[in-house]
Amino acid sequence: MKLILLGAPGAGKGTVAKMLTAIDGSVQISTGDILRAAVKEGTELGKQAEAYMKAGDLVPDELIMGIMEQRLQEPDCANGFLLDGFPRTIPQAEQLKALMDKLGIKLDMAVNLEVPREVILDRLTTRRTCTGCGAIYNVKSAPPKVEGVCDKCGGSVVQRDDETEEAISNRLDVYNEKTAPLVEFYRNEGLLLDVNATSSDEVVKTIKARLAG
Ligand code: ADP
Repeated sequence: MKLILLGAPGAGKGTVAKMLTAIDGSVQISTGDILRAAVKEGTELGKQAEAYMKAGDLVPDELIMGIMEQRLQEPDCANGFLLDGFPRTIPQAEQLKALMDKLGIKLDMAVNLEVPREVILDRLTTRRTCTGCGAIYNVKSAPPKVEGVCDKCGGSVVQRDDETEEAISNRLDVYNEKTAPLVEFYRNEGLLLDVNATSSDEVVKTIKARLAG
């Protein structure tokens, strides 16, 4: 499958993407994960992205398009991909469309994960992430077995730098201003699927049904 996952921070794009990869071997491509890895490694890309990320602002489109143009041409994408956190702006969506045309790839759909704002705020403030493998936990609903230690890789499980209340509120504003317009963009392209994303299991079921039908 070749899908775009749209939705506010905390809507569950990463969780749903991980569940979908298990179905048919499509790869999850998370621009947030790619950027966090670059920051951790201290690469040139990481240095350029770090301050934007910490404040909860978007990284410039040129940087993101450079990463994605390369990433989408790697061999593992041939089986399908789940774009998690990309595109995030209308220019990114337009450039992605041109890139897909150039590579002769057809997207199946753009899934819009809809979750009420209260649920989003609660999820983001209680979310914890493994710095080693990116696994996602929640202090209330799904804590690691040992506090602060990843069940899967033993890495340290922490609150992300951009998950302070101030950065979260900025990320939600940035989402409404820059990313929410993509819903209409993909509706016009005839690719949009709106889903209620309060339960990630239900989201996966709905996507499977739509792909099969
Ligand atoms: P979330 O979806 O939970 O907000 P991500 O992990 O997708 O978080 O992204 C974290 C940060 O990385 C964003 O706040 C932004 O600074 C940067 N980022 C990720 N993807 C993009 C993108 N496509 N365009 C611009 N910035 C991005």
